[in-house]
Amino acid sequence: MDNCIFCKIIKGEVPADKIYEDDKFLAFLDITPVNLGHTLLIPKEHHKDLFEIPDDTLCEIGPVIKKIAIAVKEGTKADAINIGMNNGPVAGQVVFHAHIHIMPRFSNDGYKLWHGKDYDKNNSQKIAEEIRKLI
Ligand code: 5GP
Ligand code: ZN
Repeated sequence: MDNCIFCKIIKGEVPADKIYEDDKFLAFLDITPVNLGHTLLIPKEHHKDLFEIPDDTLCEIGPVIKKIAIAVKEGTKADAINIGMNNGPVAGQVVFHAHIHIMPRFSNDGYKLWHGKDYDKNNSQKIAEEIRKLI
């Protein structure tokens, strides 16, 4: 993809602080980290988002996520790690080359997770059934 910033990083046309590379995946530091050590892991093949990544690539990416997460956690002396993936603009995706955020967390970093909502009556059964029948 000619205009994709992450494809340019893969090709070495745009600089990045690379963390890990093999024939299928690349990990590099996010340019605007939520905390120091915030890393992005991408498949080298250009796919827009999770829904476009082939299953065999997804099978292979799991152990790489774990490997990078362990190194980020130990390297930054983080207390914990958040793994995130934004799929679609409404979910906050701004770079349309699928990527996984590996974010070190510290007990005093001030971030909070989203607030959970309560269900209205019977909503949980209804939405569970809607989702279940599509799998
Ligand atoms: P998204 O919101 O699409 O899930 O996240 C895209 C991430 O890519 C953002 O956290 C942003 O800081 C990072 N990013 C955007 N452009 C560049 C770049 O040129 N280099 C690096 N290293 N990260 C980038
Ligand atoms: Zn790309």
